[in-house]
Amino acid sequence: MARRQRSLASEAADAFFRLGSGAGLVIGLFWALDHPATPNECTGTSSDSLGKCMGDTLWTTTQPYLLGIGGGLLGGALLALAIILAVRLLTRALRRTPGAEVGAADSRPIRPAVISASVAGPRGRSMIARYPGTCSGCRSTIRTGDRITHVGRQNNRCAACG
Ligand SMILES: [Zn+2]
Repeated sequence: MARRQRSLASEAADAFFRLGSGAGLVIGLFWALDHPATPNECTGTSSDSLGKCMGDTLWTTTQPYLLGIGGGLLGGALLALAIILAVRLLTRALRRTPGAEVGAADSRPIRPAVISASVAGPRGRSMIARYPGTCSGCRSTIRTGDRITHVGRQNNRCAACG
């Protein structure tokens, strides 16, 4: 139960991180669209200078997008990370308070010993094996925790034999 909660929390953090990065990216993209670079006037006569000018234009017009997307992605990711860390520290602090410990105790797994109550039967007592052994009926292996019928010393029968 505790492990499941932890994986759920990490999944939520993962989703939140992606959400933050995505939101940052979108905001950055909109910022870039709102701040378009003024393209150069390419009036060169030689193909060499015209090519260089167009290359420069491509670079200057691409820059806001690179800046917006990169900055937005990084900013969103960092902000999401900061919030995830803050939430983690907060939940850890809350867990230390006495009120939260009651809930933590509730989620503890039930120990197998609790269900090892023995029931008296006609040929023996039905119980949970505390030691590994061998069934006196079919010679199959009895593992610790298996339900067995305890007839006597060195005389345990597996669930199938009863
Ligand atoms: Zn058996």
